[in-house]
Amino acid sequence: MEPFASPHNLDTQLHSLLGEASRNLCDWLADSGSQGPIPDSFDLPKVAPEKEGLSNRALLNELRLLMNGAYRPSHPGALAHLDPPPLSASIVGELICAGLNNNLLAEELSPCLSSLERNLCKWFCEKLGLGHLSGGVAASGGSLSNLMALVMARNIAGLETDPSAVFFASDDSHVSLSKAAKVMGLKKESLKKIPTDEKGELNVSSLSSIFEKLKSEGKKCFAVVATAGTTVRGSIDPLVDIAQFCQKENIWLHVDGAIGAIYGLSRITSELLEGIGSANSITVNPQKLLGIAKTSSLLLVANKNYLSSTFSTGLPYAEPLTGNDFHGGELGIQGTRSAESLKLWIGLRQLGEVGIEKILLESIKRRCYLESMIDSSKFKIITGPLHLLAFTPNNYNSSQSFDWSKKTRNSLLTSKFMLSRPIYGDRYYLKAVLGNPNTTFDDLKILASLINESIN
Ligand SMILES: *Cc1c(COP(=O)(O)O)cnc(C)c1O
Repeated sequence: MEPFASPHNLDTQLHSLLGEASRNLCDWLADSGSQGPIPDSFDLPKVAPEKEGLSNRALLNELRLLMNGAYRPSHPGALAHLDPPPLSASIVGELICAGLNNNLLAEELSPCLSSLERNLCKWFCEKLGLGHLSGGVAASGGSLSNLMALVMARNIAGLETDPSAVFFASDDSHVSLSKAAKVMGLKKESLKKIPTDEKGELNVSSLSSIFEKLKSEGKKCFAVVATAGTTVRGSIDPLVDIAQFCQKENIWLHVDGAIGAIYGLSRITSELLEGIGSANSITVNPQKLLGIAKTSSLLLVANKNYLSSTFSTGLPYAEPLTGNDFHGGELGIQGTRSAESLKLWIGLRQLGEVGIEKILLESIKRRCYLESMIDSSKFKIITGPLHLLAFTPNNYNSSQSFDWSKKTRNSLLTSKFMLSRPIYGDRYYLKAVLGNPNTTFDDLKILASLINESIN
């Protein structure tokens, strides 16, 4: 087989290779139910190229080896993390994206896809109420979206090189914020953690008093990060109150909605996010619940000019743009990047408003059902309004909870349920993420009884 498709004739070998690979992928998906979420063991192909290139047959066999050893997000018991099965249309979007091999770095390398990304970001901004100056940029994951938001906030505050710069987030906020602080050259203490209340939500009066104290010490705050959907229990920080505080103090509000902001796409669930439209920037990860193939994250900003004023360096090797638009590579940290918004766009088009709402509402329904089935006389259950839930035996100390969580996770795996084992406060929990559309209420009934039997 020629390694590149002819630009003149239909490449029948590529055509049949794609056909067979697609068939294998569909078989793999169809097989997922009879397997478990993770394989017991796996074999790896050799990594170094042979002297002569392999035949299509050999390539497909090697691919099969990798597929056999892969995690299976489609399995109904795959409930450990925020990794749902991929939407069918987004698989196709990813394939076409690879075939087009456009580059979001520069407009001339992705003429229509750059516009598609702009329009799609704008649509998300409108859904979340960010106003008429808003816009955004796609990023390879929420960690990067959060980092870019914080770099931008610090830049706008004029504190780029100020070692007294600090920012705030709750105790339950995501580890990507600590990572961002490291990348930004900030001391560990520059991320000020604010206690959460019994619902796992940032305590606004603590925020206010810690802020005053730091201010009196000469520290300068450049951002508050509110989390919409915390990673362990899916809590949403009080966005209205935090927005009010930020407005009063003139501080950038970033909403880390990697998990929760997607709920803004349905009118019913958007009520959970009241106040999000007052944010200066929002991270949203359609990869985490809607099933857009990884990676799919957007950084949305209320004033899109701040993206270019922070990240633009000029792009002297690409044709300059007319008007107010900037090349994709001038809107964020990444240079060359794929047209990730293609699979997001086609996934949303496939679902329609009805399909999107169904995914959001059913994920919450599954969480409510599992919550109602877990014996609360035995377990402390922590959850929020979304599709995450975690639990640990009542009255266990830290080491007892460690032993129980380890043993129970392993025994659940033998029944093909995969839960994760976060540490929260001083205890270990088991966590279920109910975003897998293949999980039925019957599956959850079985899961709940296994959970309830895990202690006497
Ligand atoms: C997952 C997550 C992130 C990071 O997103 P990645 O795509 O994994 O980089 C950030 N914040 C929250 C709340 C998350 O749950």
